[in-house]
Amino acid sequence: MEQTFIMIKPDGVQRGLIGDIICRFEKKGFYLKAMKFMNVEKSFAQKHYADLSALPFFPKLVDYIISGPVVAMVWEGKDVVLTGRRIIGATRPWEAAPGTIRGDYAVEVSRNVIHGSDSVENGQKEIALWFPGGLAE
Ligand code: ATP
Ligand code: MG
Repeated sequence: MEQTFIMIKPDGVQRGLIGDIICRFEKKGFYLKAMKFMNVEKSFAQKHYADLSALPFFPKLVDYIISGPVVAMVWEGKDVVLTGRRIIGATRPWEAAPGTIRGDYAVEVSRNVIHGSDSVENGQKEIALWFPGGLAE
């Protein structure tokens, strides 16, 4: 079954949105396969967003991700990568439709509450990075 990597970013954790976010994925019908609460190191955040390393906002993005604890999750279900991105909403919160997580809870692109894998392949890479010990059966 398809899997995706979802991370609640530090602002989402600080603002008390963990329960609401999990609820949205559960109610949709997805299955929570793994979850952990953690602080990430700078080098780890740089690895997670390595594809964006040439962009001007990259240092700020890394500092944001390491600014507090995050919730790392693996969600499973039919078309969960694409559907998960639709539940999350557009990258820029002002373009995210109301009813999406970013559409409901964010105003700044640099504090947009949540990350979701953008392809099945990247999802598998991110799951391997964040859950190096594998997932429990
Ligand atoms: P994510 O990978 O976090 O799920 P995304 O796939 O919607 O987000 P990406 O293009 O991968 O968007 O960008 C990663 C993150 O970088 C965005 O979620 C956002 O927090 C940040 N970001 C993107 N564009 C900007 C920008 N212009 N200024 C500041 N931060 C930005
Ligand atoms: Mg992305």
